Amino acid sequence: MDYVVDPGDVSAIPVSGSHQLFPVHRIYCVGKNYADHIKEMGMDPKSVPPCFFMKPADAATTQSKIPYPPGTNNYHYELELVLAIGKEGRNISKEQAKEYIFGYAVGFDMTRRDLQIRAGQSGSPWDTGKGFDFSAPISAIFPAASVGHITNGHLVLSVNGELRQDSDISQMVWKIDEIIAELSRLYLLKPGDLIFTGTPAGVGPVVPGDKLVGTIAGLGELIVEITPAE
Ligand code: MN
Repeated sequence: MDYVVDPGDVSAIPVSGSHQLFPVHRIYCVGKNYADHIKEMGMDPKSVPPCFFMKPADAATTQSKIPYPPGTNNYHYELELVLAIGKEGRNISKEQAKEYIFGYAVGFDMTRRDLQIRAGQSGSPWDTGKGFDFSAPISAIFPAASVGHITNGHLVLSVNGELRQDSDISQMVWKIDEIIAELSRLYLLKPGDLIFTGTPAGVGPVVPGDKLVGTIAGLGELIVEITPAE
């Protein structure tokens, strides 16, 4: 194919225990999916349906160091379980949902909280708060065929060794089968899609020099250091 500009590299994530890569098609995210986090954002968990939003595919990064992003003074981490979709489907039933999961990963939904909040207050799209360069750090993908399906288990995040987030996958408001069922009514899910499934309470700001360590039981660690703005 003869392109008028360089199409660049495929955004791709290593697969644990393999030399193969998982090519990223789209990154879907679930907002408001742990009751304690909904409360800390000032909302009533029962009144707020989970919402979906997206990040660009090339926001996914396995770099161990990521630069502080431009345009913010309130840059937050959110530790999340990530689903990696391995099969195309729409209108997927809850009962069949797990068949569409290739694997799982540990991810950070990095957020320019000030821009997100400002967008929300003015009723504007919150893309600038959520979808930006390096906004989706992610671990290797662990195939469900090796690690099983992750429906419960501890998830914890520390900043510079201090515990900040401490919850359990079982505390999700919408479970992974419900997320896949609902999302597949809105979009044609494709192999290569990633789904960030929401964060528990304890989100907060980071600055250059901070080191984030996120751990999900059964998957291991994601370690990212924030470097000065580029
Ligand atoms: Mn999130």
